[in-house]
Amino acid sequence: MSRRLNVVPFVSVEHMMRLVLEIGIERFIVELASCIEADFLRWPSFEKSARVASHSVDGVIELMPTSDGTLYGFKYVNGHPRNTRDGLQTVTAFGVLCDVATGYPLLLSEMTILTALRTAATSALVAKHLAPAGGRTMAVIGNGAQAEFQAVAFKALLGVDRLRLYDIDPAASRKVVRNLAGKGFEIVVCESAQEAVLGAQIVTTVTADKQNATILTDNMVGAGLHINAVGGDCPGKTELHADILRRSDIFVEYPPQTRIEGEIQQLPGDYPVTEFWQVAAGLAPGRRSSQAITLFDSVGFAIEDFSALRYVRGQLAAHGMFTELDLLADPDEPRDLFGMVLRAQVK
Ligand code: NAD
Repeated sequence: MSRRLNVVPFVSVEHMMRLVLEIGIERFIVELASCIEADFLRWPSFEKSARVASHSVDGVIELMPTSDGTLYGFKYVNGHPRNTRDGLQTVTAFGVLCDVATGYPLLLSEMTILTALRTAATSALVAKHLAPAGGRTMAVIGNGAQAEFQAVAFKALLGVDRLRLYDIDPAASRKVVRNLAGKGFEIVVCESAQEAVLGAQIVTTVTADKQNATILTDNMVGAGLHINAVGGDCPGKTELHADILRRSDIFVEYPPQTRIEGEIQQLPGDYPVTEFWQVAAGLAPGRRSSQAITLFDSVGFAIEDFSALRYVRGQLAAHGMFTELDLLADPDEPRDLFGMVLRAQVK
């Protein structure tokens, strides 16, 4: 993509939606998962830190930076579970990708939709390594904004085509049924989380509540299950009873962040967990046996957002779904910033 240095490609929500539809949601997720996997395979080459979180009574605002030495990326994201009552999203986000050599931004993008896509792509990528072979049935507990993306990702990457839904708000489950109609799923709406997990080989918990919730209790988790725990992602915001954690093999993104934010905040700080990138790279074992309970304690890590921005940037030349933002002051004589302002008045 040829571009002037002082304008920055901007992918709006409208453009992101059109890009996703033009590429196809399943293909988008599969290609994004490959991008994430490729970046996970070079995990040591990234600058990593736990995200910077600003907590308030109703939610959290977070900055998630990383760099591979060539590109630098960060995401701004919030998590406000009560927002939906006022007609607002629980999670919204935007992100930036920059050139490390000059520090100039290369891309500014909406990331509310992109976060749902990258979270789902990551969950399914992890499950591909950990879930019991041939599992086609997934319980999805919490049927809000992320739910359909998770379902489509698990179908695209693992062949999951039977869903058992549960949400405390039946309207949320009805919305998922409506949105996934004709997409090749057999869907059962359940009356409780307990009912939803019956017969499922994979359980995705993706609820939003600012508390230590108990979406799954120990008695609901049978041998061989893979748990994709997505909703617990903040201090004091978890979904699983601690007894489940003690029976599971636990896989995480970046331990220093997950120990603060994930389900494992309920466990001692030195409790053994496996970094998922090591499984992807063949450096650590994944599922040990058909009886093992595997748990992906997902909180969302900056490298996944970096991969997502990198993927979207790679699509722009072919699909053209961006506008150019006049974001950077760029005087002809670099030191004449003041003069540039004066000349604007003359025009
Ligand atoms: P949302 O508010 O749109 O949906 C959440 C749903 O959970 C709602 O429909 C709500 O009724 C339901 N719910 C709440 N408590 C429940 C309970 N006890 N049992 C069953 N259902 C319950 O939120 P969202 O955008 O779908 O996000 C869901 C969660 O995922 C949030 O907590 C968010 O912070 C988290 N999230 C994590 C990642 C990650 O990378 N791990 C990424 C994005 C979002």
